[in-house]
Amino acid sequence: MQKLVLLGSPVAHSISPAIQNAAFASAGLDWSFEAMEVAPEKLAATITRMRADDWLGANITIPFKETVVQLLDMTDPTATKTSAVNTIVNRSGRLVGHNTDLPGFIRDLRAHWRIPSTARSLILGAGGAARAAAFGLAQEGIELSFIARTVERAERLASDIRQAYAVEVAIHPWASESFLNAASQCTLIVNATPVGLVPDTKISPWPDDVSLPPSAFVYDMVYSPKETKLIRQAQREGLKAVSGTGMLLEQAALSYELWTGLRAPRSNMRATLEDALERIPPRGSTEIQAEVLDA
Ligand code: NAP
Repeated sequence: MQKLVLLGSPVAHSISPAIQNAAFASAGLDWSFEAMEVAPEKLAATITRMRADDWLGANITIPFKETVVQLLDMTDPTATKTSAVNTIVNRSGRLVGHNTDLPGFIRDLRAHWRIPSTARSLILGAGGAARAAAFGLAQEGIELSFIARTVERAERLASDIRQAYAVEVAIHPWASESFLNAASQCTLIVNATPVGLVPDTKISPWPDDVSLPPSAFVYDMVYSPKETKLIRQAQREGLKAVSGTGMLLEQAALSYELWTGLRAPRSNMRATLEDALERIPPRGSTEIQAEVLDA
């Protein structure tokens, strides 16, 4: 059997295995996709072992999207530009990195919101997913501000953006005043942190005592739970807000197309995704440990 894997930590909440396995089955492919919790110190060895014939590739998630880049043989133009990889394809022992988060995010954002050319975006976080969102928005000519816990990480991201695009980029530390100042100015808020993700569903990246910007569109990349605290805050203030479900579907479909060379069965994948979000307990995904690759 040919194998694919989701590498990250944590991965227990992920429904990618359910989506991909249902899609493979619908195409008659005897392939298996599992989630694998990997400690940072084991990432390099795990990636090396994926060059074997029976490994077709992987998805990469939090916190490895940037660190994995240096472990690969080559990256496609989007992954090279963003310096972040969420999909690996094993091409006869050579590992090629791709970034399907960027097109996945932009396609889903467009499906929910007509992006105004004057949009001013505020991205919470500066990791791999923030990179995908930031490069996607910058290529649309949209101004960017980051609120980041690790400001140096946001500075690296801002510097990469400025080298590629002539857009305004600002950085603010993760503090109440930053949220307060940003709230009066931005028209798009993207949560690209895991704050609000299961099991810590009672927290939100947006402080309770700061009102959201009056006419902003809120995009929470977190998809589990389906309705995060941030989404509820936005809805309470009369704002339109969506979760990362659509992005999850689109990036998964694009990854499927890279691995299989086939058009992704999006309606099948959407049905599995919605079913999984409704019925599978968030911590019920299959998990295997890195040692399994030693076998
Ligand atoms: P990542 O590379 O580890 O980056 C996470 C970012 O969030 C970093 O900037 C990190 O700051 C910040 N952060 C983490 N915990 C925080 C906290 N308590 N307070 C403030 N900032 C915090 O992870 P990622 O791959 O970008 O993923 C981020 C989120 O997006 C995850 O929830 C992931 O599930 C989601 N995502 C969803 C999709 C989708 O298809 N819907 C796709 C990609 C990602 P530090 O640098 O200080 O650690």
